[in-house]
Amino acid sequence: MTVPQNVLNDPDCIFCKIVAGQIPCHKIYEDDTLVSFLDIGPLVPGHALVIPKSHYRNIFDIPPELFARISAQLPALACAVTTAVEAPACHILLNNGSQAMQSVLHLHYHIIPRKNGDRFFIPWRPGSLDTATALKLVSEIKNRLG
Ligand code: AMP
Ligand code: ZN
Repeated sequence: MTVPQNVLNDPDCIFCKIVAGQIPCHKIYEDDTLVSFLDIGPLVPGHALVIPKSHYRNIFDIPPELFARISAQLPALACAVTTAVEAPACHILLNNGSQAMQSVLHLHYHIIPRKNGDRFFIPWRPGSLDTATALKLVSEIKNRLG
């Protein structure tokens, strides 16, 4: 896979504009590396986003150290967001690439609180895994990990 070229603070990126204060958001948390704010098109009440202040497209180009710092805030943010809407559960979702439903190419975690009977639905249709396919895949993945 070709690793995408990283561009810091992209002037055409809507999330960079939020970081820069050029467009408004309903901010719930900010520190030196990340910002968290409510999603403008919530799938359910409380749907929030967590983004790095620096522009990285997704999991394929963010430095692991920065990813770790952002991820370290997720337990506290997810707990606060989820309990604020009195939900008992939540998804932490990270879309990487347009085929994986990423529409804004600035890395962002979704925090999506869940309740019984809410309107959010993920079609989850398990396939099957045969041994030959599994062995081939494990080998190819391990080769890439080095
Ligand atoms: P994704 O499909 O994973 O790229 O999700 C992008 C998310 O960003 C969607 O859920 C949008 O509703 C949300 N979004 C787009 N623009 C804004 C904005 N200006 N403020 C807050 N959320 C936004
Ligand atoms: Zn950006």
